[in-house]
Amino acid sequence: MNTRPIKKVACPQCGQLAEFSPSNQYRPFCSERCKMIDLGAWASESYRIEAPLTPELPEDAEE
Ligand SMILES: [Zn+2]
Repeated sequence: MNTRPIKKVACPQCGQLAEFSPSNQYRPFCSERCKMIDLGAWASESYRIEAPLTPELPEDAEE
């Protein structure tokens, strides 16, 4: 009577159902691999966003 169904969520990375439970330390991902891929993608994405635009040289530096 007390067996609660384990909640499963679709892995954001590969779409496989992953257990959303304390036993799945990589939740909501299905595996460490997917978690790392997602973190890597996020990191590179944020790098791209945070990369400074090439500053234009001030044109009044001739004097
Ligand atoms: Zn996955």
